[in-house]
Amino acid sequence: MTIIINMRDGIDERKLRIAARLIREGKLVAFPTETVYGLGADALNESAVRRIFEAKGRPADNPLIVHISSFSQVHELAREVPEEAKMLAREFWPGPLAIVLPKSEIVPKVTTGGLDTVAIRMPANKIALKLIELSGRPIAAPSANISGKPSPTSAEHVAEDFYGKIECIVDGGETKIGVESTVIDLTEWPPVLLRPGGLPLEEIERVIGEVRVHPAVYGKKVDVAKAPGMKYRHYAPNAEVIVVEGSREKVGAKIRELVEEFKSKGLKVGVIGSADYGADEFFFLGRSVEEVARNLFKALRYMDRAGVDIVIAEGVEEKGLGLAVMNRLRKASGYRIVKA
Ligand code: AMP
Ligand code: MG
Repeated sequence: MTIIINMRDGIDERKLRIAARLIREGKLVAFPTETVYGLGADALNESAVRRIFEAKGRPADNPLIVHISSFSQVHELAREVPEEAKMLAREFWPGPLAIVLPKSEIVPKVTTGGLDTVAIRMPANKIALKLIELSGRPIAAPSANISGKPSPTSAEHVAEDFYGKIECIVDGGETKIGVESTVIDLTEWPPVLLRPGGLPLEEIERVIGEVRVHPAVYGKKVDVAKAPGMKYRHYAPNAEVIVVEGSREKVGAKIRELVEEFKSKGLKVGVIGSADYGADEFFFLGRSVEEVARNLFKALRYMDRAGVDIVIAEGVEEKGLGLAVMNRLRKASGYRIVKA
């Protein structure tokens, strides 16, 4: 049975205590963060964490991010805390940035996918922070979707994937950012961007200087011993996805051409982007890159419900949040990219 706690109109601490108790008892609780919904469990409880992997169908070597509500928890979870971690935390926490550090003894290897490092983040969402605080535990939480599917940006998305399979869903309405956190590895020098996300790389470099971008971020096939999560297909709807990249005018013309081509083959075509280009189904992603990020996963889930055979996605410029958006789109497409 799944308890759904409605907290769209603000925090109800009495109800949140129920969810916090479930975390302490080793149960699974999905909750909102500013990025996407997380599927949470006590990060220090091995069997609880194992249930996250089972529920999601997540490969055991794909590490989880551990969520905290106070900076002091970093010292419990990490063996060493470099000055750069403090600088980044001071500037960006709570916020969409996960910091990878050498893990301490108390963090089970199940949580870190077998690695000797742990990713830590303080989310900028009042419900999430209060839940962590009330539970008195660091909470391990990957995105609350079946592994491989688009991440959830609303409680309805979580229910689609997990209703009846987890103990609780806390409904805090739609998430603000819409793509997952940025992951930065501080166990190497220079620091390495492992996953672009809700905090733009430019912002991080402003605080700690030059960051190396892991080649897997751009879809290079590499041996990713450091962050095994990067090797899995991700964010994908059931329909096939094609991403069209290039200058704005050319992209529009190319999408129109592809839409015609697929329609003439009798396929039902969906477009996600700034215009419909003659498609059967269309989801307007937004005017700014922030709006595009917020709508991206919702648009992909929408196309599945609409039953399209193929989704054509309009690329955006890889600046600011655009790097995270393009990373998600390319992965969703399995790297079927058309250059216009
Ligand atoms: P998810 O929570 O589903 O968005 O996935 C979390 C992602 O964070 C993983 O797929 C990894 O890419 C990254 N991550 C988490 N922990 C670590 C770690 N210890 N080292 C490197 N990357 C990590
Ligand atoms: Mg995920």
